[in-house]
Amino acid sequence: MTKNSVGRPPKRDKDGNKVYRKICSVYLDIRLVQYIDDKVGNLSDWMEKAMRKAFENEYCFYCFDDKIKENALNYKCTNMRHEQMDGKGAPSIILNWKYCECGNSFAPVDGQFAGITDGDHPVCANCVREWRLLNPREE
Ligand SMILES: [Zn+2]
Ligand SMILES: [Zn+2]
Repeated sequence: MTKNSVGRPPKRDKDGNKVYRKICSVYLDIRLVQYIDDKVGNLSDWMEKAMRKAFENEYCFYCFDDKIKENALNYKCTNMRHEQMDGKGAPSIILNWKYCECGNSFAPVDGQFAGITDGDHPVCANCVREWRLLNPREE
C-alpha cells in the first residue's frame, strides 16, 4: 500500500481536475452544525454549496473572478478568457437569468429570448402573449 492511498481521495471537479482545499475554522452554533450534519451528512460540502449560492450573482466560480455585469435580463461574467471559452467546454458566461414579474425565467428557449426588452423592464413570452390578448391591435 502506498502512502497516497491513505486518507480520503482528493476532491475533483467535474473535469477530473484536483480541487485544492483548505481547512477554514468557523465557529457555528452547535445546534446548526448538528442539524446540517443530520440533514445532509457533510458539513464541508454543504457550506461550500451555501457559499457558492450566496455569491452566485457576484462571482464566477469557473473563473474565480468577480468581473460580473448585471443587466435587465441576467448576470454575466465578463472575464475575457471565459468569453472566449463560452460554448467551447466552459459553462455559459451567463451565470443566472432573472425572472419576469410573473415568475418565468428569462432564459431563452431553443436559443431564442422569446420576450421583449422594453428598457429596464423586460417581459417574458407568456406576458407578451397575454398583453397582446388584452390589448388587441386596433383595426
Ligand atoms: Zn467566468
Ligand atoms: Zn412574465
